[in-house]
Amino acid sequence: MKIISVEGIVVNTIAYKENSKILNILTKDMGIIGCVSKGCKKLKSKLRSISEKFAYGTFHMYYKEDGLSTLIDGDIKDYFVNIRSDIIKISYLTYICELSNNVYKESNSNEIYPLLISSVLKIEEGFNPRIITNILELQFLEYLGINLNLDNCVVCGNSKVVTLSLPKGGYICQKHRTTEELLDPKVLKLLRLYNYVDISKISNLDIDENVSKKISNIIDLYYEEYSGVYLKSKRMLKELDN
Ligand SMILES: [Zn+2]
Repeated sequence: MKIISVEGIVVNTIAYKENSKILNILTKDMGIIGCVSKGCKKLKSKLRSISEKFAYGTFHMYYKEDGLSTLIDGDIKDYFVNIRSDIIKISYLTYICELSNNVYKESNSNEIYPLLISSVLKIEEGFNPRIITNILELQFLEYLGINLNLDNCVVCGNSKVVTLSLPKGGYICQKHRTTEELLDPKVLKLLRLYNYVDISKISNLDIDENVSKKISNIIDLYYEEYSGVYLKSKRMLKELDN
């Protein structure tokens, strides 16, 4: 066993023995690490806060490649105090951490971590958690192997698109539209923006509520029908946010 220090976020915790936890940490460079945090539930434990769900920082541990590592200590980067004071925001955080965990397992991509962290930091900054979550969900599609073509008509390549077809996997033009309802051009424009925006650089999200809700419904529907990802946290989130 060797000692390593790794940046990451606790995406999930499991109670272990009387005072301990097993942490699942999505890390910046080393994928998901399962790590025992011994005695972290004791009030005086120095591991207490770094072992909380959503703890974000640097984790020092005895690293075991095939099996559970053991946490030694940690330095928290951000406590997410704004998110933690708001039940709706906590629900979004719970959901995007669970989703990222799943998308990482599907893709093994090191790009999942920065996308998740940028999104969490934006929600912490005060940006609309539903919109940030939708942007992340849309950008994750590529890693699930089901990205939508949001550049031009999926059938002929025409750039004058009028709506989106989920079964066809992207935008379609007037000529290739059959039974699909027409979409507000604002929805089409924003979906494309959601798909390409650098989340860490978002500085303004002035989006009409009806438009953002429409987009949210489209993304939910696509996830339900095509992603194969079913998360309990998403259902709870929908109940809370309605
Ligand atoms: Zn076409």
